[in-house]
Amino acid sequence: MSLSLRKKSAVAAAKAAGMDGLLVTHLPDVRYLCGFTGSNAALALAGGRAVLFTDGRYTAQAKAEAVGTRVVIAKKPAVAAACEWLDNAGVRRCGFDPAQTTVAALEGMRKAVSAKVRRSMFQATGPLVARLREVKDVEEIATMWKAARLGCRLFDGMLSYMQPGLTEIAVAAELEHAARLAGAEAMSFETIVASGERSSLPHGRATQAKLPRRGFVTLDFGVVVDGYASDMTRTVHMGKALPDEREVYDAVLEAQEAAVAKVAPGVTAGEVDEAARSVLRKARLDRYFRHSTGHGVGLEIHEGPRLAAKQTQALEQGMVVTIEPGVYMPGRFGVRIEDMVLVTATGGEVLTPSVKAWIEL
Ligand code: ZN
Ligand code: ZN
Repeated sequence: MSLSLRKKSAVAAAKAAGMDGLLVTHLPDVRYLCGFTGSNAALALAGGRAVLFTDGRYTAQAKAEAVGTRVVIAKKPAVAAACEWLDNAGVRRCGFDPAQTTVAALEGMRKAVSAKVRRSMFQATGPLVARLREVKDVEEIATMWKAARLGCRLFDGMLSYMQPGLTEIAVAAELEHAARLAGAEAMSFETIVASGERSSLPHGRATQAKLPRRGFVTLDFGVVVDGYASDMTRTVHMGKALPDEREVYDAVLEAQEAAVAKVAPGVTAGEVDEAARSVLRKARLDRYFRHSTGHGVGLEIHEGPRLAAKQTQALEQGMVVTIEPGVYMPGRFGVRIEDMVLVTATGGEVLTPSVKAWIEL
């Protein structure tokens, strides 16, 4: 989808919410709508017009990136300049995303407009742009493929690197070094390497703990390519496993595959969550699965939709979601398996096809 189409969609969404203008300040939303990647920006949309406000550091970059959007290098804070422009453009009901606007920012927005509209102009509309971003267009999907495939290649490389005695930090460092050399702009989030007993921590960041001779290692990581994040988790076993370790792994894998198989347009997020949860319930492991099944991913690592119990939002073709059930036995071990899945016209397509079968290193 072209940037101008995205801006049109945002204006249409604002109009449907009863607004005659939209103020966008969340940077991933700004990037999505006009292409600008700088760290200071406010985008004002009214009718057929869009203006990007930023500061002097970004004069050249804004012009180069925000093709098709008028750029104003503001002498005052970008948000204040955008509000002033919206007021002068005659906007009387301007939508904004309350989830991305602090109380102080709202105060500043009000101060920037004329006294007569100060109280009435800004209306919280909810996450209109974030909602648009949930459904990816073909260019976004192609980029996300690239990011996801790079993640898979990195995981394959780690299989020959990991060995008992290496610290988790050494594993994370090797992975991140290889990622940058292979073209990642950044990691999607702080790499998780959780080994041995620490694998029972759902978000065990890499520490000085050493990979054990015998026990699980969970790797959860992602790379950013052209702004888009990947996200995947694999859990491997060092040395010979105990029978219950293998049983838990098999149950998590079965739960993960059941949820992946459930992905299709029209299916609710809650139904996908339940597909994973019910497998673990049958195995009497559901009480050790204490987080949601997945999340949308894109310009941000956590986006809508949220794949959690009782979520009624229906999946739509073009969404990219993660499927990541896990079982965490406190003080013993944990297992999580995570893929990125694209919602296609008829089902789901896994973007991270690294091996999920049992791996003993
Ligand atoms: Zn993850
Ligand atoms: Zn995730």
